[in-house]
Amino acid sequence: MKIVWREITSQRNSFAALYAACEQHGYQLVPSDLPGGDVTLYSLNSIQAPGLLDEIAGAPCTTIVGGPHATACYDDLVNIADYVVVGEGEFTVPRLLDCLELGLLPPPGVATKNGYVPVDHAVIPDAYPSFSEYRGYIEISRGCPHSCQYCQTPCIFGHRMRHRGIDAIRDLARHFNQIRMVTPNALAYGSDGRHPRLDKVEHLLKVLKRDLGREVYFGTFPSEIRPEWVTPEAVDLIRSYCDNTKLHIGVQSGSDEVLTRLHRGHSCADALSALDHTRDGGMVPIVDVILGFPNETEEEQEETIRLVQEVCKFGFVHAHRFIPLPGTPLQGTIATPVIPEAQRVLGSLALSGRVTGSWNEPELRFFRRVPY
Ligand code: SF4
Repeated sequence: MKIVWREITSQRNSFAALYAACEQHGYQLVPSDLPGGDVTLYSLNSIQAPGLLDEIAGAPCTTIVGGPHATACYDDLVNIADYVVVGEGEFTVPRLLDCLELGLLPPPGVATKNGYVPVDHAVIPDAYPSFSEYRGYIEISRGCPHSCQYCQTPCIFGHRMRHRGIDAIRDLARHFNQIRMVTPNALAYGSDGRHPRLDKVEHLLKVLKRDLGREVYFGTFPSEIRPEWVTPEAVDLIRSYCDNTKLHIGVQSGSDEVLTRLHRGHSCADALSALDHTRDGGMVPIVDVILGFPNETEEEQEETIRLVQEVCKFGFVHAHRFIPLPGTPLQGTIATPVIPEAQRVLGSLALSGRVTGSWNEPELRFFRRVPY
């Protein structure tokens, strides 16, 4: 059976992970910019999916779609693709390929026009490497106990954090001179996502830095840290073992009312403390903010802009505009326009390089991220 992976630039990490998973089960994925072979696999995000639906519907082969958009919209996509993988793919995709070869019904976790049986497992990170032949990011943790209303992560990976073991991370890290890791919250490594385990973070960083002797970047691109986890001890730990001088902190809004409506689980005071601890620890903060949440008032946007101005006195801001992503509690809501004053301040700070991001074209953040 020839299995084609439809190449989509923003889904390269999914390809790396699924290539490795399928390889473990004896299947080889062949990357291509067109559908073909016996089966073609697509990983869809919600921005690029609309542009691929006609191609999938007309593909001259069996089609399997997965990824965040497919997970969120599987009941629509069963009318476009033959099989829709809902949730994590590492175990389900090879299992589905087995079923196709043997002429069996699809396994749990796969939706078709004939129905859907929910998935019957959760992937243990150590069971599958983040990549093999095609390099991707080192994913160290999966799942998130928080419920930020705009975020697809808990919808796809669930609320229980699962962590890759240190030995497995070390094996993946050997492939890089600069080690960067993917996780919903870097400082939550080894924990339940609510109670820090800095002892486990330290063990991980010690192994990567001292055993491998590589450059280690932690709590920065391509991951970030929740503000209430940024403590003097945590900053000191990162300074001791890592090469990054900047910390990427997800704050999202300068308004406590907005943070509460979003179920962020932290306050503006937490964000300001995180900024102080970062600076006092000799590091530079990069703060993520989002503007245009549903029903966000002018005053609430102004509060976020005041936070942006405060951060930019000594740090940097990565600004986005809200997108109501499918599968999230805010699906189907309307983004509030970014007020002219916010546009003016962000534009001016962007000219000096203090602000980057995509607050005018929010889709851009799905196509590229800026490594600081
Ligand atoms: S935004 Fe971050 S903390 Fe919030 S649910 Fe998503 S991954 Fe978790």
